[in-house]
Amino acid sequence: MEIVKDAANANDRSLNFLEEIIEESIAKGETRVQTRFPPEPNGYLHIGHAKSICLNFGLAKKYGGLCNLRFDDTNPVKEDVEYVDSIKEDVHWLGFEWAGEHYASDYFDQLYEWAIELIKKGKAYVDDQSQEEIRLTRGTVTVPGKESPWRNRSVEENLDLFQRMKAGEFADGEKVLRAKIDMAHPNMLLRDPIMYRILHSEHHRTGNKWCIYPMYDYAHGESDSIEKVTHSICTLEFDVHRPLYDWFIRELGIFPSHQYEFARLNLTYTIMSKRKLLQLVQNKIVMGWDDPRMPTICALRRKGYTPASVRAFAEKVGVAKRDNVIDLGLLEFCVREDLNKTAQRRMAVVNPLKVVITNYPEDKTELFSCINNPEDESAGTRQVPFSREIYIERDDFMEEPPKKYYRLSPGKEVRLRYSYLIKCEEVVKDEAGNIVELHCTYDPASGEGSSSDGRKVKGVIHWVSAAHAQKAEVRLFENLFVKENPDDVEEGKTFLDYLNPDSMTVKTAYLEPSLVEAEVGDKFQFERVGYFCKDKDSTLEIPVFNRTVSLKDSWAKMNK
Ligand code: ATP
Ligand code: MG
Repeated sequence: MEIVKDAANANDRSLNFLEEIIEESIAKGETRVQTRFPPEPNGYLHIGHAKSICLNFGLAKKYGGLCNLRFDDTNPVKEDVEYVDSIKEDVHWLGFEWAGEHYASDYFDQLYEWAIELIKKGKAYVDDQSQEEIRLTRGTVTVPGKESPWRNRSVEENLDLFQRMKAGEFADGEKVLRAKIDMAHPNMLLRDPIMYRILHSEHHRTGNKWCIYPMYDYAHGESDSIEKVTHSICTLEFDVHRPLYDWFIRELGIFPSHQYEFARLNLTYTIMSKRKLLQLVQNKIVMGWDDPRMPTICALRRKGYTPASVRAFAEKVGVAKRDNVIDLGLLEFCVREDLNKTAQRRMAVVNPLKVVITNYPEDKTELFSCINNPEDESAGTRQVPFSREIYIERDDFMEEPPKKYYRLSPGKEVRLRYSYLIKCEEVVKDEAGNIVELHCTYDPASGEGSSSDGRKVKGVIHWVSAAHAQKAEVRLFENLFVKENPDDVEEGKTFLDYLNPDSMTVKTAYLEPSLVEAEVGDKFQFERVGYFCKDKDSTLEIPVFNRTVSLKDSWAKMNK
């Protein structure tokens, strides 16, 4: 599959194919647009769902229509209210408000009535074959299927058996209800598809009321129709289901909802199957569904993504009719672009090296005024304390620097951001030869951008006053997988064989004191380091910050 590195410019894009379809029908006088987002509550939503949410809610909004949230809860075995709640939270967080909150399970009575109607029309029958037998007699693309010996039961017998299925007289798997279509149909899905199966299983909403549950293909289109959905948008793999979707609606003579398919979102270095994500959670490979390395919406939120950045991403990837894979860098580009405008700047040292400024008075503290956000004047300034001992990044010092290294090195000067010029006079090492601290001098006339004799110093580094610093834990994240497509596994391996052992690095950092006041979820740019968001694992003693994304923008560079 092609990897898309360059995406359409969101601001001047042409209509996507769904907008074209809608505008054509508007031109014909059909002006009502109603969509739905139909998750199955069997896991947390991920970035792929976010695309579908933005699309469904976005189209409704653009054309003055409605979008429902509908839980496709027809499989009681895998579903749970925990997931229902998280899905609602995530859709809200993305900035969307649903017109109605619906559940396929609310339609179980109506679906049952309609099944009876189809039986009466001679369009459905109870089959005593096992699901395995049914599968084996379906035939192949080139060979027609075999009709069930029970296919020509009388309407009366079918009605009786179906009612007894509902009444709980039969065990799981003993009988199914099938649509009577055509066992030789070229589309295998129309070879008498199963409409109902017996499942003696408690449902998270209907409890033990039902022991027969409708299949996706029967429940989905009928639910759309009940809600009078005009545009039922789903992913490409459902295109072969469309004739069946239409068949049920036609046979029942109910509101004609229509199904449209678009390409699902795939991202490099990412898996999106809920089943596999659940495996990561259950095997404790990640900290939970909201581990910042997960592609779930709650994980992106915890990592520091903004709703606007996710919406911008969905807009940029657009709506395709053919499958592709989007570069993960595009998602990072979107959050970087948003946070650059909105996140306040702070100084934090993630890989600390102590610096003693030997000619600075021991008991003195000065405050330097720092700009909170150069992109937003209204964000104002803050005061940052400076004293004799500070921390700088280890990377900002080199004992034997290469040419064009403008940061600190022996005998060289560097500018401390918003503060003085310092010069490295001495490198202090332990017995093993590791650098433990630097002794520097400062130029007292060099505060806030000036110097005593007008000399120019190229390098500027950030710093934190040691006496005032807040110790913190920072978590740096890399891709969870080392393989571009972790779903594409070699023989004998699983996607778990491609985990990145270095996907999370924990460091002890020092933060400027203003960060003590930050609350969980607050987002900052740690100058020269990256964007960070305060994590829920923070304690009063040790705040925890997640790196949302680094500052370096490999995606933008690559696409210049
Ligand atoms: P999984 O197969 O991992 O369980 P799913 O597609 O079955 O995922 P649903 O809860 O049924 O998950 O999906 C709800 C809606 O979100 C559907 O309309 C589905 O088409 C859409 N959706 C799911 N994954 C993606 C994706 N990667 N890109 C775009 N839309 C998606
Ligand atoms: Mg599904």
